Amino acid sequence: MADQHIVIIGSGPAGLTAALYAARANLTPLLIEGVEAGGQLMLTTMVDNWPGFRDGIMGPDLMAEMRAQAERFGTEVIEGDITKVTLGERPFTLELRDGRRITTEALVIATGASARWLEIGSDRKLAGHGVSTCATCDGYFFKGKPIAVVGGGDSALEEANYLTKFASKVTLIHRRDTLRASKIMQDKAFANSKIDFIWDSEIAEVADVEKGEVTGIVVRNLKTGALQDVSLDGVFIAIGHTPNTSLFEGQLDLDANGYIVTREGTRTNVPGVFAAGDVQDHVYRQAVTAAGSGCMAAIDAERYLEGLPQDLGQAQHTVA
Ligand code: NAP
Repeated sequence: MADQHIVIIGSGPAGLTAALYAARANLTPLLIEGVEAGGQLMLTTMVDNWPGFRDGIMGPDLMAEMRAQAERFGTEVIEGDITKVTLGERPFTLELRDGRRITTEALVIATGASARWLEIGSDRKLAGHGVSTCATCDGYFFKGKPIAVVGGGDSALEEANYLTKFASKVTLIHRRDTLRASKIMQDKAFANSKIDFIWDSEIAEVADVEKGEVTGIVVRNLKTGALQDVSLDGVFIAIGHTPNTSLFEGQLDLDANGYIVTREGTRTNVPGVFAAGDVQDHVYRQAVTAAGSGCMAAIDAERYLEGLPQDLGQAQHTVA
């Protein structure tokens, strides 16, 4: 089995753990970082629920450690953004935006999920001009200013709490009258005097697209239909994520929400292609479960390669 190769797409906890296990199995993996190197934990501050760190660890520090550990055992990490995959022929072919082509006998997909937008038009148009999906990236720009956070899950409440460090006031807008977030997060938000809530409501429009900056929002009450103008300087959207699977449409089985369907561990419908982390998990979506499934994918891939005829099993990935 020595020197058999495998390619992993994605550099979050799932991809890097798959790389660590594949490297330790002597598969000399090639890992393609993807557009958001390090994944969602790069956009977080303190991670308090990663086992082994009783005082927590900063998200970017955790990812740097994971990457160094994967590299220590022989993972080759390359920057790159894949624009096309061909999974119908073996070896599988991956094409990068810069023209490089990679072939491999086994593939682990760990491309994760990306922040969702409101799909009202004005939110996207004002992205980077007062509308953001990342509090830790952009919170600093709203020192002393009123802002809104949209969503009722753990992300929204975590962001709202975090943003009170900067903002003069945080208005949380949720489409129902009960929050989805965990009780501990709810208690923290309710106890924070800088956070107030608008229930049963959605943002109908973010103003002012013509001016090119956020000056306020129009909030629609979903029970009464009443519209309300709220003046503020920033909007943070925290309404969940969409799996990064558009590359695989038509080639892999996806569920109704676009997540890769896995069975018997991390296997997809194409033998030799495995999926791990948020790209295939809409239930747990934790860093630690993503890492666990990355480990599973590497073990599943190793067993798959062992079962190939010797000439194929010893094929290596090539980069041209
Ligand atoms: P989530 O749990 O799916 O919550 C998304 C929230 O956005 C829900 O409240 C949902 O409303 C709302 N929403 C969805 N689409 C909307 C739309 N189009 N317009 C308005 N509101 C919309 O997502 P998440 O908060 O990102 O959390 C994802 C996972 O990560 C969860 O398992 C969570 O526990 C975990 N997480 C954990 C931590 C932590 O432990 N520190 C921090 C962040 C996230 P409804 O409630 O009505 O569906």
